[in-house]
Amino acid sequence: MSSILLEAAERANRYVEALPTRNVAPTPEALAALDRLTGALGSEGVPEDRVIAELDEVGGPATVANAGGRYFGFVIGGGLPVSVAANWLAGAWNQNTAMEVMSPVGVRLERTALEWIRDLVGLGPEVRGAFVTGDTVANFSALLAARQSVLERVGHDVARQGMAGAPPVSVVVGEEVHVSMLRAIALAGLGRDRVVRVPVDDQGRMRADRLPEFQGPTIVCTQAGNVNSGAFDPVPEISRAAHAAGAWVHVDGAFGLWARASPRYRGLAEGVESADSWALDGHKWLNVPYDSGAVFLRDWTALRASLASGPAAYLPSGGSVEPFELVPEMSRRARGIDAWAALRHLGRSGVADLVDRCCAHALRFARRLEDAGFRILNDVVLNQVLVSFGDEATTRRIIAELQRDGTCWCGGTVWHGTAAMRISVSSWATTTDDVDRSVAAMIRLAGR
Ligand SMILES: *Cc1c(COP(=O)(O)O)cnc(C)c1O
Repeated sequence: MSSILLEAAERANRYVEALPTRNVAPTPEALAALDRLTGALGSEGVPEDRVIAELDEVGGPATVANAGGRYFGFVIGGGLPVSVAANWLAGAWNQNTAMEVMSPVGVRLERTALEWIRDLVGLGPEVRGAFVTGDTVANFSALLAARQSVLERVGHDVARQGMAGAPPVSVVVGEEVHVSMLRAIALAGLGRDRVVRVPVDDQGRMRADRLPEFQGPTIVCTQAGNVNSGAFDPVPEISRAAHAAGAWVHVDGAFGLWARASPRYRGLAEGVESADSWALDGHKWLNVPYDSGAVFLRDWTALRASLASGPAAYLPSGGSVEPFELVPEMSRRARGIDAWAALRHLGRSGVADLVDRCCAHALRFARRLEDAGFRILNDVVLNQVLVSFGDEATTRRIIAELQRDGTCWCGGTVWHGTAAMRISVSSWATTTDDVDRSVAAMIRLAGR
């Protein structure tokens, strides 16, 4: 056994054990010490045990402790231990899952994990998925399929002929579209500034009664889980109108689609299966290590056509679809193994419980903060809470002080013109005690 691997495992274990007692944000001293790891590359190498020691001793304290239970910024998962461990093992295996012949185990487990996720979030048996780096690339991949499909219907093969000379494609989004969706739209050559924005309601949901007239090739990008409020677009109504006009409907369900895995919260995302494509993250609510996301398609032939590279003598042809045919990458790590391990360990009830616990913690945050006299700005239906501590300057000051204080970490946002602090409960590791300690810190700082 190579001792460097054991050494890393022991150091990682000590890091994880220290999480409950350390500051969530790194201290300024820890960040300043990073200078020791940077600078010009030496001509002589450094022994491997020293590389790992300095990485742990200098790098570790400079991490943001989002693997612990008191990180509530953005929407960030905590890294389930079984999944992190599987990730290490798979890392030692060094498998490339571009093709089955390169990694039979990687490809089999990836397909299994994708089917498990598809079934957990209640998409039909005809739906097929692919692992990518995250929800942004999942959205991008879905747009490639959508673009190929809606243009094929008007006689344009965009994979072969390109976007130059293609009939215009309308892209419809909600006013509250996630910025990464706009980036994916730009990447797909559909033009960030060309999108048609649909007005939203007070929770940020797209208003189905305000959809535009659909004319010509059209892609509608809906959202399951607003990054601020946690609210869901009315996908079934939107799908009905869009499909009647031959449009493609996509669902950005980065974290929100996981609500479907819980009998208690499934109703929030009722009817999302009526869409044509879906994107979600593994590294958010499933709590697998970074990075991990997946795209799902009802009909994957358009995605395969849009990513086709043409024949190459050394690539397999015919037979089953290889993983690389459904993703923008060719070589790729065995991302599915991390997800397989998390799902195998949790089972259906464990995933539901993970969702339920996070949502219960979010409600506890909201109730405690409301009891303390602060204003909750959203309907807390899922795992997201928006709180105002008063005027804009006060809210911003408390967010900054909280981040410095180190008990927990929350970011800020602006919700319908009001400055707010965002609390996103997305980690398997968060306990009731973590919530109470964090609320106490917020009240203490706001009371000053
Ligand atoms: C996080 C998020 C994204 C972007 O996902 P990445 O995994 O960071 O690429 C897109 N949409 C929504 C709604 C999100 O919450």
